[in-house]
Amino acid sequence: MKKIAVLTSGGDSPAMNAAIRAVVRIGIENEVQVFGVHRGFNGLINGEIFEMDRHSVSDIIQRGGTILRTARSEEFRTPEGRQKALNVIKVLKIDGIIVIGGDGSFRGAKELSDLGIPTVGIPGTIDNDLPYTDYTVGFDTALNTAIDAINKIRDTSSSHERVSVIEVMGRNCGDLALFSGIAGGAEQVIVPEKKFTIEDICENIFKGKRNGKLHNIIILAEGVGGAQKLAKSIEEITGIETRATVLGYIQRGGSPSAFDRILASRMGSKAVKVLLEGKTARLIGIKANKIIDIDIKEALDLKSCFNEELYKLSVDLSN
Ligand code: ATP
Repeated sequence: MKKIAVLTSGGDSPAMNAAIRAVVRIGIENEVQVFGVHRGFNGLINGEIFEMDRHSVSDIIQRGGTILRTARSEEFRTPEGRQKALNVIKVLKIDGIIVIGGDGSFRGAKELSDLGIPTVGIPGTIDNDLPYTDYTVGFDTALNTAIDAINKIRDTSSSHERVSVIEVMGRNCGDLALFSGIAGGAEQVIVPEKKFTIEDICENIFKGKRNGKLHNIIILAEGVGGAQKLAKSIEEITGIETRATVLGYIQRGGSPSAFDRILASRMGSKAVKVLLEGKTARLIGIKANKIIDIDIKEALDLKSCFNEELYKLSVDLSN
């Protein structure tokens, strides 16, 4: 393996840059030429590919977003689009590709490997919605951003003795809400993986009042959604002033946490090594603090594994 390329695809996440940096530096360390691809799979199709050296990834470990830019490529979903990308890869004599992104990007990576191009994926998404790995790159930073916001909202919530509904991202995965709820000391966490009723929520708020709580923080997962509507219903039923805040895109940006920088560096390094071992169609992950690689199809076929133990803890702690 003499030449490898790296691209970022789908939604950006903090520490994608740290992963790119590790791929470039570990590749060069192993005497491999490393190429960067701009704008995800679109860049492969259009030949937006350039060689990277150690210096090209200086001063990026602390930066959010992705220096390679990212895109969602409709053309790459078509056989014709993928054939164009394959031609570009062949002309440039690229021997392997590292894709940093979410599950959609990994389906694209699988297609590339089916065309005979060795491909490895690094999970870059704030959603933590890939069951094969304990953590995805960017999740920890998004979590810390959410906690910072929850702390601030809590001050106002206590002063006014209000209920606050705070909606966090995470698509159909409740992890960001669950982790935010525990770390932010929330009274309730509402996630797509668990059924809830408005009556239960309101009963819990009354219980909090009886126990002398000044505020009531409810963390709502994006996958459940409807923060404004929920706040209105709570206010109507309980008569307690209730406000909704949707944290939105502030969770996607920002300087990555130390945890994410280290995770991305470890995964970037492993991705290069897996390619050098001659493997293809592999995803890099972390399980019990060990960096692992797993077959893409096997990984994408795994059912979501909601952390029931953590959910129970969030309930027990808020009683
Ligand atoms: P995020 O979790 O942030 O949404 P993602 O990687 O899941 O990231 P998607 O928009 O689902 O984001 O996918 C990114 C890109 O991957 C798509 O725009 C498309 O180019 C490619 N892709 C997704 N699914 C396929 C597929 N089945 N075949 C080929 N390419 C695909």
